[in-house]
This record gives sequence, C-alpha cells and structure tokens, in this order.
Amino acid sequence: MRRLRNVKIVATLGPASNDYETIRALFEAGADVFRLNMSHGDHSEIAARHAIIRRIESDLGRPIAILADLQGPKLRVGVFANGEEDLAVGQDFRLDLDKADGDATRVCLPHPEIFAALEPGATLLVNDGKIRLRVKECGKDHADCEVTVGGVISNRKGVNVPDVVLPLAALSKKDRKDLDFVCDLGVDWLALSFVQRPEDVAEARDLAYGRAAILSKIEKPSAVKNFDAILAASDGIMVARGDLGVELPVQNVPPIQKRLVRKCRAAAKPVIVATQMLESMIESPMPTRAEVSDVAAAIYEGADAVMLSAESAAGSFPIEAVTTMNAVAIEVESDLTYREVIEASRGGRKETVADAIVSAAREIAETTEIKAICCFSQSGTTASLVARERPRVPILAMTHVEGTARRLCLTWGLHCVMVRAVDRFKGAVVASARAALAEGFATREDLIVVTAGVPFNMPGTTNILRVAPCEERLIFAGDPE
Ligand code: PGA
Ligand code: MN
Repeated sequence: MRRLRNVKIVATLGPASNDYETIRALFEAGADVFRLNMSHGDHSEIAARHAIIRRIESDLGRPIAILADLQGPKLRVGVFANGEEDLAVGQDFRLDLDKADGDATRVCLPHPEIFAALEPGATLLVNDGKIRLRVKECGKDHADCEVTVGGVISNRKGVNVPDVVLPLAALSKKDRKDLDFVCDLGVDWLALSFVQRPEDVAEARDLAYGRAAILSKIEKPSAVKNFDAILAASDGIMVARGDLGVELPVQNVPPIQKRLVRKCRAAAKPVIVATQMLESMIESPMPTRAEVSDVAAAIYEGADAVMLSAESAAGSFPIEAVTTMNAVAIEVESDLTYREVIEASRGGRKETVADAIVSAAREIAETTEIKAICCFSQSGTTASLVARERPRVPILAMTHVEGTARRLCLTWGLHCVMVRAVDRFKGAVVASARAALAEGFATREDLIVVTAGVPFNMPGTTNILRVAPCEERLIFAGDPE
C-alpha cells in the first residue's frame, strides 16, 4: 500500500476512534502515525488501542508509528464550593495553598514551586487563556492578583504561567508511570509536553533508555527561546500551537511555526504541525476554507507531518478529516510552486560522506529515468538525510530494524520497507529491486538508485551508491564481482 503524497498524517485516537474498523479506516484513508494522548483514557484503554494498531499493522503488512503523548506538568486550580465563580475585571483574586474549597475571592493552586517562582507583574492564564490574572503581591504560599480579563472559572481549570521559567520537573509522577507503561507496551515516539529546557529532554531519554524516540512539544515561550538546544537534544519536534497560542500572543504562532519547521528540516529531524488544523470538522463534514489553507500552508512550508487532535479522537467525522488532509496534501504537492519553494529552501552544505551520497542520489534520480531512491538504514539516520533532500522521486527506507521502520513513518516522504538483514551490497540491490517492483514503484524496465553503508553491521556509514535495473538477471549481469 503506497501513499500518493510525501507529507505524513498523524491522527489522535480517542472515543471516536476506538475500534478495529475505525482505526483501520483511518489508516486506509491516510493516517501514517497514531497518537495516544495520555491526558485522556486509562491504561487499559491505551493498551487496547495499541493492540488494535499492531493488529492492523500485521494484517496489512505495513509499518505504523505509534506516538504516546505524555501530559507533562500541567498546572490546575483546585475546586470551588459552588463548582464555579464569575470573575469580574478589576476585582482582586487570591491563589494560595489552602486546600479549602474556593469562592469568589480565592482558590487553591496546589503548586508551591509556582509561588516560589512568581514575581509581581507576572501574568497567570486560566482556562486556555480566557481569564487573565496579574500578580500584585506574592509570597511563598500565595499570590494576590488583579483580574485583567474576567470570565467563569471552574473546578480544576488549567493554569499557564508564560512569563516565568518554572522550576517544575518536566515529568510528573503520572508522566513517569505513563512513560514506563507505554515503553513496555512498545511505542515508537514519546511526545513531551511543556518542555522548557534541553535537560527536560535528557531526563525523558534516560527514563526511556532507547525504547522510544523523543519528540519535544514546543508550547512554552522558554522552549521557543531555548529551541536550538532542545532540537539538538530531541529526535523530533511538535509545533503545539494550542498551548503556544495561549502562552504567547496568537499572532506570534505563525512566524514561530515557519522558523521551527525550517530548523527541523536543516537538522534532518521530523516536525509535526499540530492543533486546530481542521477544528470545524469535529462537528462538520466540511472544513472551512481557512482550515484548508492552514493545512496547505504547513505542507508548503515543508513540515514532515500534519496532525489531527479532537477531529479524529472525539469528533463526528474522523475519517472525513483524514481524507481531507490527504486530498489537500496531494493537491499541494502537485503544485509547481510547492516544488519551487521546497527546492529553494534546500540547504547547500554537505558535511559528511553520507550527506554527499544522499545528495548525489537525489541529483542522479532527478536527472535520469529513475523511479525510486532505495536507502538502507539501520538507525534511520541516512533515510532522514535522504528525506531532507526532498527529492522528486519516491524514497524507500529499507531496514531490518522494526523500530526504525515504524519510527520513520513520521518523516516526510519515507515509504518504509522491512527486509531481512543483508550482509552484501548485491543483496541490498536485489532486495531494493524486489520492494520497488512489489510495491508498485517501478517496473522491470525501470532503474532505481540504491544507497547503503558497507560493511553492513556498522550504522551511520553510508558510503555506496549504485544505479541498478529492477530486473534481477540484469542486476547480476551488471555486477563486476
Ligand atoms: P495538547 O498539545 O493537545 O496535548 O495540549 C498540543 C497543543 O498544545 O497544541
Ligand atoms: Mn499542549
């Protein structure tokens, strides 16, 4: 089964996409990666969805990536005696450590670390930024605030503190439990929420010890500020526009998105553009024109993946949402402007032998009658370098490592193929030709480019390139050995 586009689609699973038939239909409509959101659903539900995805993978014989999204240190207020209160602009409101139920004058914020870090003048945002509080005076167990934007505040609403780098552990107790649970289940990507510094990524990496790749969600001003170091510490990035647009003015999100997408491509690490992409499709079978434009813009920019959240997890039209993204992607990618933009933004520097080989592979494939670039990759690094080139011909990422095949499903343009381990280059060429034929990328008359690292048991050594015919007889006839 082959996709007719290069950008990947991430679909979040939830109550609207819980059973085998729906998840399989989402995959067939175009979802390449499934996201399990650890903020919702208990461990037994998560395990059930995980098992269904793996069953579809084996039924259809195609690798599928699973991304587990950890909730992170999300701050919440306590509860109110009346369930909720209406805060008026200009009134005083106190946050403190008192566990007693809240009222119109105060509520508990059960996070002493916050009070230690707050300073007069800081802004607190409640309920997705709908309510704003400005700190007038604060101590180690309280903050006296003025309401600058009023509204209804209710039980356990989320709190954002954009101006302050919080001395919070990147992973809560729940996150640590969730992390171990999903790593034991076997997920390919772990997404970290509210990353603030590169150390947060290192901490998760230690806990995962190689069981999953680490993706940092950029949704705090401090993460935008420390982005280069966070990118260096991460395997992938999500532009998490939901919280980012709460913590920063919404108009700051588009330029940040563009900058982050570029930097990720330069680093050959996958980047997901996420949140509200087709928001209206939660309730409607048709997207708005603005949403279609937003999805298209992310693809024109060169994102590796676009994501659905509630649209596929809790909406009434999960399959239609994936179908829409797929259709938009096919249209954008066939536009000449897309090609121009993507090629103009290709980096010129070639630092390593592997860089030079993949760049040569692209040039050769684009100047002659070649139908695919087949690249052998154990760790996934070389395949990511080929994807960074954004070639016009399809890329087959050939690997015998199941985790690599699955993980690379998130990366632009990679059609991942599981093969048996090969120990000679000739074997790699034969396996490539077979895969290109079997999966409909080439016919017997066609040529392919094959890249690999020889010797085969040393990852990160791509050093060989060959233009080969797909006909096996010719492969051997053409070989000098
Ligand atoms: P969330 O992350 O859906 O877990 O909040 C994405 C975002 O904030 O955009
Ligand atoms: Mn978020």
